[in-house]
Amino acid sequence: MKIRILGCGTSSGVPMVGCACNVCRSNNIRNKRTRVSAIVESADAKILLDTPPDLRMQLLSAGISNIDAVLYTHAHADHVHGIDDLRSINFMKKSPIEAFGSADTLRLIKQRFDYAFIKKGEILNNYWTRPALIAKELMSDKEDHICINGLKVEHFKQTHGNQTTTGYIFDSKIAYSTDFNHIEVNILESLKGINLWIIDCLGYDNHPTHSNLPNTLSYIKYVEPKLAVLTHMSHQLDYDKLLEETPENVFPGYDGMLINID
Ligand SMILES: [Zn+2]
Ligand SMILES: [Zn+2]
Ligand SMILES: [Zn+2]
Repeated sequence: MKIRILGCGTSSGVPMVGCACNVCRSNNIRNKRTRVSAIVESADAKILLDTPPDLRMQLLSAGISNIDAVLYTHAHADHVHGIDDLRSINFMKKSPIEAFGSADTLRLIKQRFDYAFIKKGEILNNYWTRPALIAKELMSDKEDHICINGLKVEHFKQTHGNQTTTGYIFDSKIAYSTDFNHIEVNILESLKGINLWIIDCLGYDNHPTHSNLPNTLSYIKYVEPKLAVLTHMSHQLDYDKLLEETPENVFPGYDGMLINID
């Protein structure tokens, strides 16, 4: 199993439009961050995490022409508004794509993008005119898990300001936690010793809806993953500087980063 970071930037992306800070002006390719997304690949499954506004370029850069399902973490614009770019994948595979999320997440996405979801009993004449998603609601019971082409996917709740986001665990080896400022201790217990934890780290400052570097590092210290990769990073974080500030098992993510777990 492997995971590719398609994007690791916060909602504005890095560089941010109009900003002239050192990170935004940096020539380091690892300081160029598109909006947060990743793709998990096992022998039989390709699972996309969110559909950010940069999705088309991310799929092209990663050479991805097929996915089996989308897992939504929540309905914020930076995680959803590339939804139309799934249309090309529908067209290539000539079938709908299952889109998983919590009841709240799917409800909020449908408020904005109802046309992208197939209605009950609806037959499509083609797979080009609009995205074709099948909404699949995740049960709230945390013991519940789903299976996508043989890959076990568990999910858990995270606090993101006044919202709840969904974290995911793939085959008990990779956990994905973007957009949170708090995770309950019983969830952290269940993540202990995991092979890889992709984790929110917005910047250095305190933030009402995101984790910052000190907070993220304390979560990592508690969970003790073999490897942790930071994501959803803002222009506060310079890649090279951050690399020096993080412990041996913690790496800043970068767009295109590929991590093999087997
Ligand atoms: Zn976000
Ligand atoms: Zn900047
Ligand atoms: Zn968010």
